[in-house]
Amino acid sequence: MKKLKSKQVKKINKTPQKKLQKKAESLWKEVCLFRDKRKCQVKQMFPGVKIPHSNVIQVDHCFSRSNKNLFLQISNGTTVCSTCNMMKKNGLKGVDLLIYEIVSRREGVDRFMEMRELHQSGGANISWNKVWWLEEQIDILETIKRGMTGGIYE
Ligand SMILES: [Zn+2]
Repeated sequence: MKKLKSKQVKKINKTPQKKLQKKAESLWKEVCLFRDKRKCQVKQMFPGVKIPHSNVIQVDHCFSRSNKNLFLQISNGTTVCSTCNMMKKNGLKGVDLLIYEIVSRREGVDRFMEMRELHQSGGANISWNKVWWLEEQIDILETIKRGMTGGIYE
């Protein structure tokens, strides 16, 4: 009886949490795109590397999307084109190393190492499914967005 109850609660809560996760992710993406002026950062910073950059713009998670500790960190996101994103995923032309270099230069070596450690420790983010935590992240991201854009999108 008790088990059934907790299962039902989980089911009911699923939708608002997923919605908040989506909202937070889309804010995260917007802020990264704005910071990077919607340009593939690999193309911007390594114009000499021969890659057929596409016009499709995406935001890459430097340290895997599966790590929810870093999922909504602006410092973990980099605007790239779909070609670079695909090449990174498939380990082609060392695009992954180029992106590590971009993030490390942009965020500083200390922050980069901190993120790498967090990634390697592989701990789960126990707050990822908590409404209060997600709302807090959305607040933080909205504040960053307002600060960055001067509220022009409000
Ligand atoms: Zn590119």
